[in-house]
Amino acid sequence: MQGYRSLMSSEAIAANLERIVARIGSARKAAVAPAPHTTLVAVTKGQRAEQVRPALDAGHRSFGENRVQEAAQKWPALRATFPNLELHLIGPLQTNKVRDAVALFDVIETIDRPKLAQALAQALAQGGRTRTVFIQVNTGEEQQKAGVPPADAPNLIALCRELRLPVQGLMCIPPLEKPPAPHFALLREIARVHDLAFLSMGMSADFETAIRYGATHVRVGTAIFGERGQTTSEGQSGKSLAR
Ligand SMILES: *Cc1c(COP(=O)(O)O)cnc(C)c1O
Repeated sequence: MQGYRSLMSSEAIAANLERIVARIGSARKAAVAPAPHTTLVAVTKGQRAEQVRPALDAGHRSFGENRVQEAAQKWPALRATFPNLELHLIGPLQTNKVRDAVALFDVIETIDRPKLAQALAQALAQGGRTRTVFIQVNTGEEQQKAGVPPADAPNLIALCRELRLPVQGLMCIPPLEKPPAPHFALLREIARVHDLAFLSMGMSADFETAIRYGATHVRVGTAIFGERGQTTSEGQSGKSLAR
């Protein structure tokens, strides 16, 4: 049956969340040099609002979405009930959606090109919700993947600072079929050189490894909420359609 999936119960979602939080704690204890804090960004793309509620009811407040339009449908109502939540954009951003994005997201993790940085600076000058910006680095230099190539990251970071964007960190999505550790190490090194405090790296399959490399934010979806619906395209390799 196309599109069918069983929804996870509220109890199961709350239990998964608790388990992931515990695993984050253990990974931090085992790490030689963990970040001062590691925030769990619960990724709710492809999940309905009813599936998000149990996490909010359990007290969780950091969430990630990879599409502006999906977030616009889901989050304003949830935010009315939970005003102190923090929403991260973790998917590619088109310049024509920047205004909507700064109104919806507290953190935008996917700045990856000068044109987008400029559009964001313009939108933020007119106000908005976004307070923190990360630059996405295409550490695997994959053709189909969003993110600035590592060699171009210094220039983009400099431009963002010139534009007075609140750039505080880097984000990456390592290649699917390869060991992620070298990519996490590369991201950490670029952040160190440029004095950026935040590292958003690690997903359901590899967040413990990312914590070993100093992740300040791990983005975990399926391990909490189960399989996603088919209404949302996967953000894994997400490259924006229009640039
Ligand atoms: C979907 C997504 C995640 C979460 O992936 P899971 O494997 O479900 O944990 C993390 N980061 C980005 C950028 C994503 O698009």
